[in-house]
Amino acid sequence: MLRKAICAFLILVPLASQLEAKVTKAVFGEMPDGTKVEIYTLEEGALKARIMTYGARVVSLEVPDRGGKVADVVLGYDNLAGYTADHKSYFGSVVGRYGNRIAKAQFSLDGQTYHLPANDGPNTLHGGLVGFDSLVWQAHEIPNGVEMTLVSKDGDQGFPGTLTSHVRYTLEAHALKIDYTASTDKDTVLNLTNHSYFNLAGEGNGDILGHLVMIPADRFTPVDSTLIPTGELAPVAGTPLDFHKATAIGARINDDNEQLKLGKGYDHNYVLNGKIGMLQKAAQVTDPTSGRVLTVETTQPGVQFYSGNFLDGTLHGKHGHIYARRTGFCLETQHFPDSPNHPKFPTSELKPGQTYHYTTIFRFSTAP
Ligand code: BGC
Repeated sequence: MLRKAICAFLILVPLASQLEAKVTKAVFGEMPDGTKVEIYTLEEGALKARIMTYGARVVSLEVPDRGGKVADVVLGYDNLAGYTADHKSYFGSVVGRYGNRIAKAQFSLDGQTYHLPANDGPNTLHGGLVGFDSLVWQAHEIPNGVEMTLVSKDGDQGFPGTLTSHVRYTLEAHALKIDYTASTDKDTVLNLTNHSYFNLAGEGNGDILGHLVMIPADRFTPVDSTLIPTGELAPVAGTPLDFHKATAIGARINDDNEQLKLGKGYDHNYVLNGKIGMLQKAAQVTDPTSGRVLTVETTQPGVQFYSGNFLDGTLHGKHGHIYARRTGFCLETQHFPDSPNHPKFPTSELKPGQTYHYTTIFRFSTAP
């Protein structure tokens, strides 16, 4: 009996400890006002993620290919100055308060109209002029990862309520898990997501047009010429936006389709079939060359599939790599764009006493 118990203990202990991520911390740089930006390194098996406090950003994510060769699969910069100088890509950041667009830079809540800065034509994109992506978060180590906290004051970028957000990055076996929680002291709206650009062949290693994408969603939210949802939930069936069957990103991206023309490629919110709050598969992407596979799971109602159409070769990223058009893709799990102006979309409102809580998992595997 005792021998059996000891054997069980010896087997279980190494297994448990294998799942413990190593977490270390260093200084990544300094903001112009002297604020130190920290970077946390999370390591579990062959997976290694670096997360910094500026924008709560994923700075690098090292993942093995089918032969065990590791590459960094997210776009970004070598140093803090690269990130602070780039106000249009949002590489690796947590975008907020409101990820994606709010039409005409305004919305009404409880009978009051709130005006936001317009930073994308007439609209507000990713929270305004100084969104959560360009603020320094407070961080502390937690088991298997790091928790980032940001307090956004009442009236920040025009949004009501003091909003306290926590983003927890943890490593699981072969996966990076992101938990978002938030609370407010006044009725408000919010939509937090992560804006990592992936290239499963490794950042700087060509375009992503050969990557195979599968998105198990029946509908999407069509957009107008300023990329604001029309309000319709349209079927993907019979259109180049249908990714039920894994298809190369480049296979239909230049098709004569109005939505693809408006988005300059894929830049659309998919309406996930499952229930909000239940973890479901939002997408799976395979790079046939390296064999790396990314599976995205979420409890959010939507996912923005963005094929990096606005990358234009002017950005010099890590190791001097030039990020040309469509050399990275994003899968931003989220509430639907412009929800505050669409009462029929799942609500993005948060009231005092409520806790906002969503989870997204980026899971990695390999295909033969
Ligand atoms: C949006 C794109 C936008 C990009 C900015 C994406 O989330 O959907 O329209 O250009 O972010 O980097």
